[in-house]
Amino acid sequence: MNVATQPKLSLRPQREEFASLLNLSRRVGCDPQLVQGNNGNISLKLDGVLWIKASGKWLADAKQEDTFVPVELAVVKESLRRNVEIAQLYTWGDELRPSIETAMHAVLPHRVVLHVHSVNTIAWAVRRDGPSQLSKRLAGLDWRWVPYISSGIPLAKKIEKLLSAGPETNVFILGNHGLVICGNDCEAAEALLDDIERRLAIIPRQSPGPEADLLAALTGCSHWRFPDIPALHALGTDPVSRMILKGGVLYPCQAIFLGPRIPMLPFSVRLSRFAGYSNGEAEAPNYAIIEGGGVVVNEKINSAEYATLIGLMQIVQRVEEFAPLRYLTVTEIASVLGDRTNRYRQPFR
Ligand SMILES: [Zn+2]
Repeated sequence: MNVATQPKLSLRPQREEFASLLNLSRRVGCDPQLVQGNNGNISLKLDGVLWIKASGKWLADAKQEDTFVPVELAVVKESLRRNVEIAQLYTWGDELRPSIETAMHAVLPHRVVLHVHSVNTIAWAVRRDGPSQLSKRLAGLDWRWVPYISSGIPLAKKIEKLLSAGPETNVFILGNHGLVICGNDCEAAEALLDDIERRLAIIPRQSPGPEADLLAALTGCSHWRFPDIPALHALGTDPVSRMILKGGVLYPCQAIFLGPRIPMLPFSVRLSRFAGYSNGEAEAPNYAIIEGGGVVVNEKINSAEYATLIGLMQIVQRVEEFAPLRYLTVTEIASVLGDRTNRYRQPFR
């Protein structure tokens, strides 16, 4: 198959179901406990065509911008059979490409498929004992645990295999990744999502407030600021969260948007360190976690990175202190960062 550049066509079919898709996308995309930045994707199958979120687009913008692209289901399935990522083959207009997860959406038979990075789900999905923990909470539902596997064709093939063993499955918990929900229409998918969120809800730990004097001094250095979400300081002030973060990378978006290593600085960090960032002696990170102090963000952080940082806080605040965790391996992180970074990160708004 050759690369196909589709003409800029109407990306909004006049169908009631499509309007429902846009409404659902906006609701889900505006909930930071489900979607952070441009992650998450939703699809609708209409007359042999898969309408899938375009890579890099924000679900929150679905009603204002062209966010979905049409791909023939048969073409996606053929590309999967040939082990070719559909996102490499198609582009609409100048920039719209189907999501990296298009193949996964195609192999699921349901009309509506919803993939989110639910912070409640991920707090369970990073645990080695996730399947046993969830068996009680998801009792009565047709769900499967999917051990961590790369996005794109590997994930699609794994889901296809699980479906052949359990065709009734409509909930997939993706280890170290997130949640997939299926429904025969948007209403059914959203109702199932609400049910899962209720079952998997975790009350986040309380954490001490930030060390305001220290952070005020640090943000006195140019280019740094106090985050506008006070809860973000928990990443620095909550010892359990710091311990969890020091263990490694919990899920792909953490590595992609926040880097494979967390910039965590000791409380005794000297102002000279930040001054060094300012005068170009060292490259400043996009954010910094001060142990026992809180969090400061650099003005160069973009909206997707900031949303991911907030999501990370929401997740680690929900992970129990002594939970047995599975972190991404060095090979998995290298794979995520090596060949997918550009496709995930572009374009930002
Ligand atoms: Zn995902």
